[in-house]
Amino acid sequence: MTIPPPARGATHLECTRCGATQESERLAGVSGCCEKPLFVRYDLDRIRPHFRPPDLNGRRPDLWRYEEVLPVRDPSFQTRLGEGFTPLIAVPRLAARLGLSRVWIKEEGQNPTGSFKARGLALAVARAAELGAKEVALPSAGNAGSAAAAYGAALGLPVHVVVPADTPAPIVEEIRALGADLKLIDGLITDCGRIVQEAVHAHGWFDLSTLKEPYRVEGKKTMGYELYEQLDARLPDAIVYPTGGGTGLIGMWKAFEEMERLGWIGSERPRMFSVQAECCAPIVRAWEQGMEEAEPWENAETYASGLRVPRAIGDFLMLRVLRESGGGGVAVPDSAMAEWVARIGADTGVFACPEGGATAAAAEVLVARGILRPDDEVVLFNTGSGLKYVGMTPLVPAHLQPAEG
Ligand SMILES: *Cc1c(COP(=O)(O)O)cnc(C)c1O
Repeated sequence: MTIPPPARGATHLECTRCGATQESERLAGVSGCCEKPLFVRYDLDRIRPHFRPPDLNGRRPDLWRYEEVLPVRDPSFQTRLGEGFTPLIAVPRLAARLGLSRVWIKEEGQNPTGSFKARGLALAVARAAELGAKEVALPSAGNAGSAAAAYGAALGLPVHVVVPADTPAPIVEEIRALGADLKLIDGLITDCGRIVQEAVHAHGWFDLSTLKEPYRVEGKKTMGYELYEQLDARLPDAIVYPTGGGTGLIGMWKAFEEMERLGWIGSERPRMFSVQAECCAPIVRAWEQGMEEAEPWENAETYASGLRVPRAIGDFLMLRVLRESGGGGVAVPDSAMAEWVARIGADTGVFACPEGGATAAAAEVLVARGILRPDDEVVLFNTGSGLKYVGMTPLVPAHLQPAEG
Protein backbone atom coordinates (compact mmCIF):
# COMPACT_ATOMS: atom_id res chain seq x y z
CA MET A 1 0.00 0.00 0.00
CA THR A 2 1.36 3.43 -0.84
CA ILE A 3 0.89 6.29 1.57
CA PRO A 4 -0.69 9.33 -0.10
CA PRO A 5 1.40 12.50 -0.03
CA PRO A 6 0.44 14.92 2.75
CA ALA A 7 -1.70 17.95 2.01
CA ARG A 8 0.24 21.11 1.17
CA GLY A 9 1.02 23.71 3.77
CA ALA A 10 1.76 24.10 7.44
CA THR A 11 0.22 22.32 10.39
CA HIS A 12 0.48 25.24 12.82
CA LEU A 13 2.51 28.24 13.99
CA GLU A 14 4.77 28.15 17.04
CA CYS A 15 6.00 30.91 19.38
CA THR A 16 9.79 31.13 19.16
CA ARG A 17 9.95 32.17 22.82
CA CYS A 18 7.73 29.69 24.68
CA GLY A 19 6.73 27.10 22.05
CA ALA A 20 2.97 27.72 22.37
CA THR A 21 1.11 26.87 19.18
CA GLN A 22 -1.52 28.68 17.18
CA GLU A 23 -3.47 28.21 13.97
CA SER A 24 -1.69 28.76 10.64
CA GLU A 25 -4.62 29.39 8.30
CA ARG A 26 -5.47 32.88 9.49
CA LEU A 27 -3.47 36.09 9.13
CA ALA A 28 -1.01 36.21 12.04
CA GLY A 29 1.49 38.74 13.31
CA VAL A 30 3.64 38.03 16.38
CA SER A 31 2.69 35.32 18.89
CA GLY A 32 -0.37 35.96 21.01
CA CYS A 33 1.40 34.71 24.15
CA CYS A 34 4.81 36.46 24.18
CA GLU A 35 4.50 38.93 21.25
CA LYS A 36 7.58 37.30 19.70
CA PRO A 37 8.19 35.96 16.18
CA LEU A 38 6.24 32.89 15.10
CA PHE A 39 7.74 29.92 13.25
CA VAL A 40 5.78 27.88 10.73
CA ARG A 41 5.71 24.13 11.45
CA TYR A 42 5.04 21.26 9.05
CA ASP A 43 4.34 17.58 9.46
CA LEU A 44 7.90 16.67 8.47
CA ASP A 45 7.51 12.99 9.35
CA ARG A 46 4.72 12.68 6.79
CA ILE A 47 6.52 14.84 4.23
CA ARG A 48 9.79 12.89 4.61
CA PRO A 49 9.10 9.88 2.33
CA HIS A 50 7.85 12.13 -0.50
CA PHE A 51 10.49 14.86 -0.31
CA ARG A 52 13.95 13.36 -0.78
CA PRO A 53 16.80 15.18 -2.55
CA PRO A 54 16.31 13.09 -5.75
CA ASP A 55 12.68 14.29 -5.86
CA LEU A 56 14.03 17.76 -6.65
CA ASN A 57 15.56 16.68 -9.96
CA GLY A 58 13.90 18.45 -12.87
CA ARG A 59 11.99 20.91 -10.73
CA ARG A 60 11.81 24.63 -11.53
CA PRO A 61 15.03 26.53 -10.75
CA ASP A 62 13.35 28.82 -8.22
CA LEU A 63 12.44 28.62 -4.55
CA TRP A 64 9.09 26.94 -5.24
CA ARG A 65 11.02 23.72 -5.86
CA TYR A 66 10.82 23.33 -2.05
CA GLU A 67 7.04 23.72 -1.97
CA GLU A 68 6.56 20.77 0.41
CA VAL A 69 8.20 22.84 3.15
CA LEU A 70 6.59 26.14 2.17
CA PRO A 71 3.29 27.41 3.57
CA VAL A 72 1.43 28.42 0.38
CA ARG A 73 -1.47 26.00 -0.23
CA ASP A 74 -3.00 27.30 -3.46
CA PRO A 75 -0.41 27.14 -6.29
CA SER A 76 -1.98 30.17 -7.97
CA PHE A 77 -0.23 32.25 -5.27
CA GLN A 78 3.20 30.91 -6.29
CA THR A 79 4.67 33.86 -8.15
CA ARG A 80 6.99 33.44 -11.13
CA LEU A 81 9.34 36.39 -11.10
CA GLY A 82 12.39 34.11 -10.83
CA GLU A 83 12.88 34.22 -7.05
CA GLY A 84 15.63 32.04 -5.60
CA PHE A 85 17.94 29.35 -6.92
CA THR A 86 20.67 31.93 -7.38
CA PRO A 87 24.17 30.83 -8.39
CA LEU A 88 26.69 29.56 -5.85
CA ILE A 89 29.92 30.75 -7.44
CA ALA A 90 33.35 29.28 -6.69
CA VAL A 91 35.78 32.20 -6.29
CA PRO A 92 39.33 30.80 -6.10
CA ARG A 93 41.13 34.13 -6.63
CA LEU A 94 39.16 35.86 -3.89
CA ALA A 95 39.78 32.81 -1.68
CA ALA A 96 43.54 33.06 -2.25
CA ARG A 97 43.47 36.75 -1.41
CA LEU A 98 41.74 35.91 1.86
CA GLY A 99 44.17 33.11 2.69
CA LEU A 100 41.50 30.44 2.23
CA SER A 101 41.34 27.62 -0.28
CA ARG A 102 37.60 27.07 -0.77
CA VAL A 103 35.25 30.04 -0.91
CA TRP A 104 31.91 30.50 -2.66
CA ILE A 105 29.76 33.56 -3.16
CA LYS A 106 26.04 32.99 -2.98
CA GLU A 107 25.00 35.61 -5.54
CA GLU A 108 21.69 36.92 -4.28
CA GLY A 109 21.95 40.02 -6.46
CA GLN A 110 20.38 37.97 -9.25
CA ASN A 111 17.02 37.76 -7.50
CA PRO A 112 14.04 39.81 -8.76
CA THR A 113 14.50 43.42 -7.54
CA GLY A 114 18.22 42.70 -7.17
CA SER A 115 18.33 41.45 -3.59
CA PHE A 116 17.53 38.43 -1.47
CA LYS A 117 14.60 40.32 0.02
CA ALA A 118 12.67 38.86 -2.92
CA ARG A 119 12.70 35.45 -1.25
CA GLY A 120 11.07 36.60 1.96
CA LEU A 121 8.59 38.92 0.36
CA ALA A 122 7.54 36.38 -2.27
CA LEU A 123 6.31 34.20 0.58
CA ALA A 124 5.01 36.95 2.84
CA VAL A 125 2.98 38.66 0.13
CA ALA A 126 1.69 35.34 -1.23
CA ARG A 127 0.49 34.25 2.20
CA ALA A 128 -1.02 37.63 3.00
CA ALA A 129 -2.97 37.43 -0.27
CA GLU A 130 -3.93 33.79 0.24
CA LEU A 131 -5.21 34.49 3.74
CA GLY A 132 -7.29 37.45 2.61
CA ALA A 133 -5.27 40.61 3.32
CA LYS A 134 -6.56 43.52 1.21
CA GLU A 135 -3.55 45.85 1.53
CA VAL A 136 -0.10 45.39 3.05
CA ALA A 137 2.44 47.80 4.57
CA LEU A 138 6.04 47.66 5.73
CA PRO A 139 8.96 49.79 6.90
CA SER A 140 12.14 49.15 4.92
CA ALA A 141 15.73 50.19 4.50
CA GLY A 142 14.87 49.97 0.80
CA ASN A 143 15.25 46.49 -0.62
CA ALA A 144 12.36 44.94 1.31
CA GLY A 145 10.19 47.77 0.03
CA SER A 146 10.95 47.14 -3.62
CA ALA A 147 10.60 43.38 -3.22
CA ALA A 148 7.20 43.82 -1.54
CA ALA A 149 6.20 46.23 -4.30
CA ALA A 150 7.11 43.66 -6.95
CA TYR A 151 5.17 40.80 -5.37
CA GLY A 152 2.23 43.05 -4.57
CA ALA A 153 2.15 44.05 -8.24
CA ALA A 154 2.43 40.42 -9.36
CA LEU A 155 -0.49 39.35 -7.15
CA GLY A 156 -2.58 42.52 -7.44
CA LEU A 157 -2.25 43.52 -3.80
CA PRO A 158 -1.71 47.22 -2.91
CA VAL A 159 1.58 47.84 -1.03
CA HIS A 160 2.49 50.76 1.26
CA VAL A 161 6.20 51.32 1.95
CA VAL A 162 7.92 53.70 4.41
CA VAL A 163 11.69 54.21 3.94
CA PRO A 164 14.35 56.62 5.27
CA ALA A 165 14.77 59.68 3.03
CA ASP A 166 18.42 58.79 2.36
CA THR A 167 17.60 55.38 0.89
CA PRO A 168 19.67 54.87 -2.29
CA ALA A 169 18.00 56.60 -5.24
CA PRO A 170 17.84 53.53 -7.51
CA ILE A 171 15.80 51.70 -4.85
CA VAL A 172 13.44 54.66 -4.39
CA GLU A 173 12.88 54.81 -8.17
CA GLU A 174 12.33 51.08 -8.27
CA ILE A 175 9.65 51.15 -5.54
CA ARG A 176 7.84 53.92 -7.40
CA ALA A 177 8.08 52.15 -10.75
CA LEU A 178 6.59 49.01 -9.23
CA GLY A 179 3.47 50.92 -8.30
CA ALA A 180 3.72 50.99 -4.51
CA ASP A 181 2.57 53.84 -2.31
CA LEU A 182 5.87 55.26 -0.97
CA LYS A 183 6.56 57.53 1.99
CA LEU A 184 10.06 58.94 2.68
CA ILE A 185 10.83 60.10 6.21
CA ASP A 186 13.75 61.66 8.06
CA GLY A 187 14.79 58.86 10.37
CA LEU A 188 15.88 55.25 10.60
CA ILE A 189 14.01 52.03 9.83
CA THR A 190 12.82 51.89 13.45
CA ASP A 191 11.14 55.30 12.94
CA CYS A 192 9.60 54.00 9.71
CA GLY A 193 8.32 51.05 11.73
CA ARG A 194 6.44 53.32 14.13
CA ILE A 195 4.72 55.11 11.25
CA VAL A 196 3.73 51.80 9.66
CA GLN A 197 2.34 50.57 12.96
CA GLU A 198 0.08 53.62 13.25
CA ALA A 199 -1.07 53.36 9.64
CA VAL A 200 -1.77 49.65 9.97
CA HIS A 201 -4.02 50.29 12.95
CA ALA A 202 -5.73 53.24 11.30
CA HIS A 203 -6.45 51.56 7.93
CA GLY A 204 -6.61 47.82 8.68
CA TRP A 205 -3.62 47.02 6.46
CA PHE A 206 -1.59 43.89 7.09
CA ASP A 207 1.88 44.51 8.59
CA LEU A 208 4.74 42.79 6.69
CA SER A 209 7.55 44.00 9.00
CA THR A 210 10.53 41.63 9.41
CA LEU A 211 9.64 38.81 11.81
CA LYS A 212 6.35 40.45 12.75
CA GLU A 213 4.68 37.97 10.44
CA PRO A 214 5.75 34.32 10.09
CA TYR A 215 6.37 33.96 6.36
CA ARG A 216 9.37 36.07 5.35
CA VAL A 217 11.57 33.61 7.24
CA GLU A 218 10.05 30.76 5.20
CA GLY A 219 11.19 32.42 1.98
CA LYS A 220 14.66 33.17 3.32
CA LYS A 221 15.18 29.67 4.63
CA THR A 222 15.27 28.37 1.05
CA MET A 223 18.87 29.68 0.92
CA GLY A 224 19.75 26.85 3.31
CA TYR A 225 18.14 24.19 1.10
CA GLU A 226 19.91 25.63 -1.95
CA LEU A 227 23.33 25.52 -0.32
CA TYR A 228 22.84 21.84 0.35
CA GLU A 229 21.77 21.11 -3.23
CA GLN A 230 24.43 23.29 -4.82
CA LEU A 231 27.24 21.83 -2.71
CA ASP A 232 26.24 18.31 -3.82
CA ALA A 233 24.46 17.25 -0.65
CA ARG A 234 26.60 18.78 2.04
CA LEU A 235 26.82 22.06 3.95
CA PRO A 236 29.84 24.38 4.18
CA ASP A 237 31.99 24.71 7.32
CA ALA A 238 31.13 28.38 7.73
CA ILE A 239 28.57 30.89 6.47
CA VAL A 240 29.39 34.59 6.64
CA TYR A 241 26.23 36.63 6.41
CA PRO A 242 25.44 40.36 6.68
CA THR A 243 22.75 40.78 9.32
CA GLY A 244 20.17 43.47 9.79
CA GLY A 245 16.78 42.17 10.89
CA GLY A 246 18.25 38.67 10.77
CA THR A 247 15.69 36.71 8.77
CA GLY A 248 18.34 35.17 6.53
CA LEU A 249 20.45 33.84 9.38
CA ILE A 250 17.43 32.65 11.32
CA GLY A 251 15.79 31.18 8.23
CA MET A 252 18.82 29.14 7.16
CA TRP A 253 19.18 27.75 10.67
CA LYS A 254 15.52 26.69 10.57
CA ALA A 255 16.14 25.04 7.19
CA PHE A 256 19.01 22.99 8.63
CA GLU A 257 16.80 21.76 11.48
CA GLU A 258 14.13 20.76 8.98
CA MET A 259 16.70 19.03 6.77
CA GLU A 260 17.86 16.96 9.73
CA ARG A 261 14.25 15.98 10.54
CA LEU A 262 13.79 15.08 6.88
CA GLY A 263 16.84 12.81 7.05
CA TRP A 264 18.89 14.83 4.53
CA ILE A 265 21.69 15.69 6.98
CA GLY A 266 22.87 14.65 10.42
CA SER A 267 23.52 16.93 13.37
CA GLU A 268 26.43 18.73 11.66
CA ARG A 269 25.95 22.46 11.09
CA PRO A 270 27.97 25.26 9.52
CA ARG A 271 29.40 27.84 11.90
CA MET A 272 27.27 30.94 11.36
CA PHE A 273 28.88 34.39 11.41
CA SER A 274 26.86 37.59 11.61
CA VAL A 275 28.50 40.62 10.00
CA GLN A 276 27.45 44.14 10.95
CA ALA A 277 28.71 47.67 10.40
CA GLU A 278 31.06 49.12 13.01
CA CYS A 279 28.68 52.04 13.65
CA CYS A 280 25.56 49.86 13.88
CA ALA A 281 26.43 46.53 15.48
CA PRO A 282 23.86 45.68 18.15
CA ILE A 283 24.04 41.92 17.55
CA VAL A 284 27.84 41.75 17.44
CA ARG A 285 28.09 43.77 20.65
CA ALA A 286 25.54 41.57 22.41
CA TRP A 287 27.34 38.45 21.23
CA GLU A 288 30.70 39.75 22.48
CA GLN A 289 29.12 40.48 25.85
CA GLY A 290 27.52 37.03 26.04
CA MET A 291 24.01 38.50 26.13
CA GLU A 292 20.84 36.67 25.06
CA GLU A 293 19.19 39.84 23.80
CA ALA A 294 20.61 43.01 22.23
CA GLU A 295 20.38 46.58 23.48
CA PRO A 296 19.28 49.06 20.77
CA TRP A 297 22.20 50.83 19.04
CA GLU A 298 22.32 54.61 19.45
CA ASN A 299 23.19 56.85 16.46
CA ALA A 300 23.26 54.01 13.96
CA GLU A 301 25.21 54.94 10.86
CA THR A 302 26.42 53.02 7.82
CA TYR A 303 26.10 53.36 4.07
CA ALA A 304 25.15 49.68 3.93
CA SER A 305 21.46 50.49 4.26
CA GLY A 306 20.45 46.85 4.80
CA LEU A 307 22.60 46.80 7.95
CA ARG A 308 21.27 50.05 9.41
CA VAL A 309 18.95 48.27 11.83
CA PRO A 310 19.52 49.53 15.40
CA ARG A 311 17.03 47.15 17.00
CA ALA A 312 15.69 43.78 15.79
CA ILE A 313 12.75 41.82 17.20
CA GLY A 314 14.60 38.62 16.30
CA ASP A 315 17.72 39.54 18.31
CA PHE A 316 17.44 36.55 20.68
CA LEU A 317 16.98 34.18 17.73
CA MET A 318 20.11 35.49 15.96
CA LEU A 319 22.17 35.27 19.14
CA ARG A 320 20.94 31.73 19.69
CA VAL A 321 22.08 30.75 16.17
CA LEU A 322 25.55 32.26 16.70
CA ARG A 323 25.94 30.39 20.01
CA GLU A 324 24.53 27.04 18.92
CA SER A 325 26.53 26.99 15.69
CA GLY A 326 29.84 27.88 17.33
CA GLY A 327 30.03 30.95 15.10
CA GLY A 328 30.09 34.57 16.15
CA GLY A 329 29.77 38.23 15.23
CA VAL A 330 32.14 40.58 13.42
CA ALA A 331 31.78 44.33 12.91
CA VAL A 332 33.57 46.02 10.01
CA PRO A 333 33.91 49.72 9.06
CA ASP A 334 32.25 51.12 5.93
CA SER A 335 35.68 51.79 4.44
CA ALA A 336 36.49 48.08 4.54
CA MET A 337 33.15 47.20 2.92
CA ALA A 338 33.92 49.57 0.07
CA GLU A 339 37.42 48.19 -0.40
CA TRP A 340 36.09 44.65 -0.56
CA VAL A 341 33.35 45.60 -3.04
CA ALA A 342 36.23 46.56 -5.35
CA ARG A 343 38.27 43.44 -4.62
CA ILE A 344 35.27 41.10 -5.04
CA GLY A 345 34.51 42.81 -8.34
CA ALA A 346 38.03 42.52 -9.69
CA ASP A 347 38.55 38.95 -8.42
CA THR A 348 35.20 37.38 -9.26
CA GLY A 349 33.07 39.34 -11.74
CA VAL A 350 30.37 39.93 -9.11
CA PHE A 351 29.39 43.57 -8.49
CA ALA A 352 28.61 43.27 -4.80
CA CYS A 353 26.50 45.53 -2.61
CA PRO A 354 28.19 47.06 0.48
CA GLU A 355 26.63 44.33 2.63
CA GLY A 356 28.26 41.73 0.38
CA GLY A 357 31.56 43.57 0.63
CA ALA A 358 31.16 43.41 4.40
CA THR A 359 31.21 39.60 4.35
CA ALA A 360 34.61 39.50 2.64
CA ALA A 361 35.91 42.17 5.02
CA ALA A 362 34.69 40.02 7.91
CA ALA A 363 36.25 36.88 6.45
CA GLU A 364 39.60 38.69 6.39
CA VAL A 365 39.20 39.48 10.10
CA LEU A 366 38.16 35.91 10.92
CA VAL A 367 41.18 34.49 9.09
CA ALA A 368 43.51 36.90 10.91
CA ARG A 369 42.01 35.80 14.24
CA GLY A 370 42.48 32.14 13.33
CA ILE A 371 38.73 31.54 13.56
CA LEU A 372 38.46 30.62 9.89
CA ARG A 373 41.13 28.08 9.00
CA PRO A 374 42.78 27.84 5.56
CA ASP A 375 40.99 24.63 4.56
CA ASP A 376 37.51 25.62 5.77
CA GLU A 377 34.78 25.67 3.16
CA VAL A 378 33.29 29.16 3.44
CA VAL A 379 30.20 30.70 1.84
CA LEU A 380 29.98 34.50 1.66
CA PHE A 381 26.54 35.96 0.97
CA ASN A 382 26.31 38.79 -1.51
CA THR A 383 22.79 39.79 -0.52
CA GLY A 384 22.18 42.31 -3.30
CA SER A 385 23.42 43.87 -6.50
CA GLY A 386 25.90 46.74 -6.31
CA LEU A 387 23.80 48.47 -8.98
CA LYS A 388 21.23 49.35 -6.33
CA TYR A 389 23.76 51.54 -4.49
CA VAL A 390 25.18 53.47 -7.40
CA GLY A 391 25.46 57.12 -6.43
CA MET A 392 26.26 56.31 -2.80
CA THR A 393 29.72 57.09 -1.53
CA PRO A 394 32.01 55.43 -0.92
CA LEU A 395 30.78 52.66 -3.21
CA VAL A 396 34.34 51.99 -4.35
CA PRO A 397 37.17 54.02 -2.79
CA ALA A 398 39.23 56.14 -5.19
CA HIS A 399 42.51 54.37 -4.46
CA LEU A 400 41.03 51.07 -5.64
CA GLN A 401 39.59 52.43 -8.87
CA PRO A 402 41.63 51.67 -11.99
CA ALA A 403 43.23 54.77 -13.50
CA GLU A 404 41.42 56.14 -16.54
CA GLY A 405 42.96 56.62 -19.94
C1 LIG B 1 17.98 43.55 4.28
C2 LIG B 1 19.35 43.36 3.80
C3 LIG B 1 20.32 42.73 4.60
C4 LIG B 1 20.02 42.25 6.00
O1 LIG B 1 19.26 41.08 5.93
P1 LIG B 1 18.46 40.44 7.14
O2 LIG B 1 18.03 39.11 6.67
O3 LIG B 1 17.34 41.39 7.43
O4 LIG B 1 19.38 40.35 8.29
C5 LIG B 1 21.56 42.52 4.04
N1 LIG B 1 21.87 42.93 2.80
C6 LIG B 1 20.97 43.55 2.00
C7 LIG B 1 21.38 43.98 0.63
C8 LIG B 1 19.68 43.78 2.47
O5 LIG B 1 18.79 44.38 1.67
